[in-house]
Amino acid sequence: MSLPRLYLSPPDLGSAEIEHVLEAFESNWIAPAGPNLDAFETDFATLVGSKHAVAVSSGTAALHLALRLAGVGPGDEVLCSTLTFVASAAPITYLGAKPVFIDSEERSWNMDPALACAVIEQKAKAGKPPKALVLVHLYGQSADIAPIKACCEKHGVKLIEDAAEALGATYGESAPGSFGLFGIHSFNGNKIITTGGGGMLVTDDAELAKQARFLATQARDAAPHYQHSTIGYNYRLSNIAASIGLGQMARLSGKVSRRRAHFKAYADAFKALPGVTMQPEATWGRSTHWLTCLTIDPAVAGVTREQVRLALEAENIEARPVWKPMHLQPVFAGVETHGGAVSERLFDQGLCLPSGAAMTEADRDRVIAIALKSLSR
Ligand SMILES: *Cc1c(COP(=O)(O)O)cnc(C)c1O
Repeated sequence: MSLPRLYLSPPDLGSAEIEHVLEAFESNWIAPAGPNLDAFETDFATLVGSKHAVAVSSGTAALHLALRLAGVGPGDEVLCSTLTFVASAAPITYLGAKPVFIDSEERSWNMDPALACAVIEQKAKAGKPPKALVLVHLYGQSADIAPIKACCEKHGVKLIEDAAEALGATYGESAPGSFGLFGIHSFNGNKIITTGGGGMLVTDDAELAKQARFLATQARDAAPHYQHSTIGYNYRLSNIAASIGLGQMARLSGKVSRRRAHFKAYADAFKALPGVTMQPEATWGRSTHWLTCLTIDPAVAGVTREQVRLALEAENIEARPVWKPMHLQPVFAGVETHGGAVSERLFDQGLCLPSGAAMTEADRDRVIAIALKSLSR
């Protein structure tokens, strides 16, 4: 019999979450409204340094609202990181707009600022600048925001940051997600904090935050009867889910330290192995290492990423390839893409290792031992 399955990034729950959920029950606030929802939004805005936070049912919903409120509509072009989860790009298509994928840079694995700016310049010169840009901060590592923000501002491109994987990270002294017109966060079960499914839209603009709340609650006009002048969505987070989020958020810094400790232990264990390279931590901020990711160059290491992944799988340990770039996804076949070689190599060679905040040192040592054995063949 093998040991219990070790997951990549399972939820890490504490007792404060149960107490907040009990408060919700006892006060009868079981709706997508209530005091814990308000507190979750207020505390979250403070935590990330944005003026307003709107809690919604998923990170994907937050991104859909952000794009719509950025004015994205049918036929518009939206630049988007190609190396990401599909949820960064799918909402662009919900609005009938066209994604344009941009490759990564080696320093952070995130969107290449020089390439993004060149594409914006070229499109602006042709008379049609992109409407918006979705900048993803992968695996707890902030992208290089400043140069991308500068190009966006110069040409009126709305910057939306997908910080779903980057809560607790820094860019300079600030949180990724707080620089764009909008930032979005996710509280899916595998993220650094979870509400059992949920998301947050943040912005410094009071009017846009108000509009987001309005659209997320079926766009009900101010009237005693039900009246609607535009189409909205049912995207609000429940007071129960927000209760879990309140408890989770209070322990964020401990969760970040645990994940960083995992990364360091993996990096120390693999440092003498030729051909094995950890995801770099860029100079401009602190990564949370939401997931520990590394690349294995088979020409140097003598084994492939897939061989190591399967060796772990055989011991009931979940490891995963790095995100498959959007420009290689069947659903996005033929979509305009700039560059691609960097993200393609990261996908070919990249592996994500178990990184949960609650993972014990014994479990981590087991992952290391199996990976080392496979890598030293
Ligand atoms: C998880 C994730 C999302 C979407 O969040 P959901 O809450 O699952 O909808 C968006 N972008 C990235 C990069 C993610 O990892």
